[in-house]
Amino acid sequence: MPHADVLEKLVSLAKRKGFVFQSSEIYGGTGSVWDYGPLGVELKNNIKARWWNAMVRQRDDVEGLDAAILMHPRVWEASGHVAGFSDPLVDCKACKARFRADKLADAQCPRKPSKKPGEHGDCQLTEPRQFNLMFKTFMGPVEDSAAVVYLRPETAQGIFVNFLNVQQATRQKVPFGIAQIGKAFRNEITPGNFTFRTREFEQMEMQFFVEPGTDMDWFEKWKAWRREWHVGLGLDDSRLQFHQHGEKELAHYARAAFDIEFDFGGTLGFQEIEGVHNRSDFDLKQHQEFSAKRLEYVDQAANKRYLPYVIETSVGADRVTLAVMVNAYREEAVAGEDEGRTVMRFHPGLAPITAGVFPLTKKDGQPEMAERVAADLRKRFPVFYDDAGAIGRRYRRQDEAGTPFGITVDGDSTRNDDVTIRFRDDLAQIRVAAAQAGEVIAGYLAKDHPVAEASRA
Ligand code: ATP
Repeated sequence: MPHADVLEKLVSLAKRKGFVFQSSEIYGGTGSVWDYGPLGVELKNNIKARWWNAMVRQRDDVEGLDAAILMHPRVWEASGHVAGFSDPLVDCKACKARFRADKLADAQCPRKPSKKPGEHGDCQLTEPRQFNLMFKTFMGPVEDSAAVVYLRPETAQGIFVNFLNVQQATRQKVPFGIAQIGKAFRNEITPGNFTFRTREFEQMEMQFFVEPGTDMDWFEKWKAWRREWHVGLGLDDSRLQFHQHGEKELAHYARAAFDIEFDFGGTLGFQEIEGVHNRSDFDLKQHQEFSAKRLEYVDQAANKRYLPYVIETSVGADRVTLAVMVNAYREEAVAGEDEGRTVMRFHPGLAPITAGVFPLTKKDGQPEMAERVAADLRKRFPVFYDDAGAIGRRYRRQDEAGTPFGITVDGDSTRNDDVTIRFRDDLAQIRVAAAQAGEVIAGYLAKDHPVAEASRA
């Protein structure tokens, strides 16, 4: 069965709960730029931390980097972005809308949404023209052509130009990789679908430098590792697939490319969340030529020098955060209750808040005890204390935030010094000594299991 389209519902939940707000909303918003609210920033940070952990900390063959957004303008000539980083743009003279010529089949005519641009009688589409997606600005006080710099459209080039710096500083031997997380900017023609395609976004990229001839082996390994990583986020395996770039899609320098796609549901369906590319030695070769600096790796043991090939893994932090939200969203009936609930079934380790703490009533020392429990838990993970309103409502609020554990202090708690832990997904409850609650939750988090099994593990 196709997955339902939940994007519209997510946009409203995201705003209501503080995951994502439209940028500069009080001024009418900025086109396709979004701000992360208190819950969203935690969720995205958790995803980035997981990536960093898997890619850099857990491996001794990948090093971290944080390169600047503004780079020497020659970088973008060498990389091919000045000449070729463009999409074909068509304008409609009748309704003034703009479309990507290669995506007309997915677009709607603004005057008649059931039709595609060009299908409606009034449409007046221009011939396609190439539109460069890089944002330009000026460095220094003079706004002339010599001062033009670009906001980077990808983080990868910061890695290529630092290849030898990192290699020499760390004494890594090929094969090894360099990873970084950072902002990228693209003046997309048809952004949209919430945070799926935006003009400012974050990438998590890794370039793995290998000896030519070993590249396809490494490519296959990275393809498998990267898919596994997405499954580890709790993304439903059946919603993930590989898409191999055919000859026409393949960039001229690429030897092979696969996208990891996630099924966003509805008409959006399967879309790229990550690219795994074999970029050959294209980038290092270009930078060597344009900078006139030798970028070859010297293999002392084998007494040879060469330009390594590069296997790249490139994933959008925002796009994968959106996939995680789409994957987590559920509307469910609750046994014994008239009202159903909306619940974000995040992987417990990704959830913005780990535990909600609730005194059942505001008397008999329950708030005091609950505050003590909350303060204790807060030393280990993010906790939300809530004593406002009916307990059912408080649970629902945390369900919508995706909080995997609810700790309730009731009349028995103050007598026996214990609490109940309620599990978000199956609503099961267990009773544990108050002092043990943190340990029990930490035990579940350490198991790193997918969400649905949280209370049964
Ligand atoms: P598309 O064909 O969708 O424009 P792309 O193939 O140009 O994307 P890459 O350059 O391979 O994308 O970028 C790698 C990753 O960066 C993508 O898989 C995606 O997760 C993310 N990304 C790219 N462009 C955007 C954007 N405009 N907004 C959000 N994330 C993006």
